[in-house]
Amino acid sequence: MPLDVICPNCRGVFFETNDKDGFSPYVTGLRSTMVREYDPDKAANAAMINMKAEFLGVYDDILHQEDLVGEGIGPCPGCGGALSDDNWKFITRPQPQEADPLICEICDRGPFKTEQGKSSHMRQIHGG
Ligand SMILES: [Zn+2]
Ligand SMILES: [Zn+2]
Repeated sequence: MPLDVICPNCRGVFFETNDKDGFSPYVTGLRSTMVREYDPDKAANAAMINMKAEFLGVYDDILHQEDLVGEGIGPCPGCGGALSDDNWKFITRPQPQEADPLICEICDRGPFKTEQGKSSHMRQIHGG
């Protein structure tokens, strides 16, 4: 699972870590390059992160090159600063998990086996 990357300056979350070596899953023309698996033990570099899908085309992506480290990782779309901290590490946090569509949002019962099972629960227990 990718981790959210938190900008050390503005706390904005525009990027996420990359899970494996390979090409960026978000190909945006010439800016897309080989990306590297995020390793928290190594110095951060620009190839370890991807712009989150919802921001592609909204903000300019950064150059994802392995030789871009420290202040070279950026600019952050929120503040224009670098995306790694003073120790050349990314600040990360787990991404919120998507809610299971077959779990009742009201009483957390489930997961139901089918959409119908959930609707009949909603009708009988919550009157909806
Ligand atoms: Zn920022
Ligand atoms: Zn319920």
